[in-house]
Amino acid sequence: MRKIAFGYSTRCNIRCAHCVAAGEQPASGKMELARAGAIIREMAAAGVTGISFTAGEPFMYFDDLLELVDLCREKQIYTRIVTNCSWARSPAETEDLLKRLKHCGLSQLRLSYSRWHQENVPRENVLNAARGCIATGLDYFISFVTDFSEQDDPYEGYLRDNALKFFPEPLIYAGRADSLAQKAIRTDYQENRCAMNPYLAPDLSMYACCDAGSHFSTTDFFLLGNLRDHSIRQLFTKAETDPLYDCIRAMGITAIASFAGIPAREIVTYRKCELCKKLFDAPEMLKTLRKAAASSDLQRWTR
Ligand code: SF4
Ligand code: SF4
Repeated sequence: MRKIAFGYSTRCNIRCAHCVAAGEQPASGKMELARAGAIIREMAAAGVTGISFTAGEPFMYFDDLLELVDLCREKQIYTRIVTNCSWARSPAETEDLLKRLKHCGLSQLRLSYSRWHQENVPRENVLNAARGCIATGLDYFISFVTDFSEQDDPYEGYLRDNALKFFPEPLIYAGRADSLAQKAIRTDYQENRCAMNPYLAPDLSMYACCDAGSHFSTTDFFLLGNLRDHSIRQLFTKAETDPLYDCIRAMGITAIASFAGIPAREIVTYRKCELCKKLFDAPEMLKTLRKAAASSDLQRWTR
């Protein structure tokens, strides 16, 4: 199943201290609406079955969004919108917007929530949005971005007190969050395999990973190419057949790091995307791993 994070625009109406999208160039780019429609048609023909509208704040171009979601419905593409809920100022206003999205066939709303988002958006907005989804019969969940510190306990408590559906998401230390202080962590020695859904940026560059992938600028390891020069089908095929991407999906970052000679004791001190950056955004290491993947030595490093 082909799915993609669709960055129609990187423009946002707030400025979160942890924003991963910060640092992308251009800072507030936007696709042409007609171009975005043509791309979605091409995606449907290439077998894309799920589109997540993300990057900046998609509600900033609400009418465009309605049109694009409607087109996805026509093409039988599952749609999700990731939003900061700044628009959900009152229950009545919220329900009105959600009914329009539901009418156009939106499949799911993903509500972003964290102590950084809530410096700019009252948490009641998230409650309005969640309750509005329930009232209009729209599927939703809350993405609770956290660094797992005690400061986040009251934020999690608010979601529990209001019986909202939420999933904790580890903070990704990329973009603006790069400068945030990182606490030392020790994780279990887990595989860290990634689904690797691609990300399409407003300048039509496509990346093989929609999380921190567009920030690996030393090697551009995840950059697949630009739709001005390639078709959607070509870029998806590249994402699906690159041997190293395949190892990330099948073996996981941890096994690759161990193969690369990083001691286990050190591996458990890394967050997933940070370890990924160490492996793939360093030219010499990348060269070694590419060679190992091409000869299948890396793929043989399995139980
Ligand atoms: S994290 Fe989301 S809501 Fe916050 S500034 Fe970035 S794009 Fe906007
Ligand atoms: S570990 Fe790498 S592949 Fe996985 S989400 Fe992070 S940047 Fe993407």
